[in-house]
Amino acid sequence: MGQANQKKITQRAILETEERCIYRAAAPTTIEHMPPLVLFLKCQRPKGLEFAACKECNNGTKDADAVAALCSRLSNADRDPYWENGDGDTSLHTVERDAPGVRDEVFDARKASTSWMRGRSGVLTPKTILVADGPLPKAYLDVFRGETGHRFIPRTCRDAACSGWWGTKDIVNYHG
Ligand SMILES: [Zn+2]
Repeated sequence: MGQANQKKITQRAILETEERCIYRAAAPTTIEHMPPLVLFLKCQRPKGLEFAACKECNNGTKDADAVAALCSRLSNADRDPYWENGDGDTSLHTVERDAPGVRDEVFDARKASTSWMRGRSGVLTPKTILVADGPLPKAYLDVFRGETGHRFIPRTCRDAACSGWWGTKDIVNYHG
């Protein structure tokens, strides 16, 4: 049996055996992935973290999930496949669609500065420091924290509420 079929059977079994949504007393009709799928690179997500949820709960936090996913991808790495293979662009578009305004706050060129830092290679290279101290990122990340019970918070997200984010040069270039 193919992997996709197996997955469908597993998810059907979850919906058939659970009487209610994991968040509230409502009929479960969807599969909730917690922590959200968007936080994981393809293929690296552990199996089994799937739960029955109603549609309202499942869709209700997708904006916060998108913001958390974007934040978790900001890093001071010299090179990052995520930002080079198009996944980063997709993430930015998703955030703009589901949480409009966040992208402009996080990638505000007027607040960004450049600093020469050593990446993993040990070579000094210019990095852009993003300051994401606006109200929107904080609001969405607070929702995400509540949703995940304060677990699974990427380090960059934790820092973000009070200080800045590291980003690669390319990230700010995207914003123009
Ligand atoms: Zn629900």
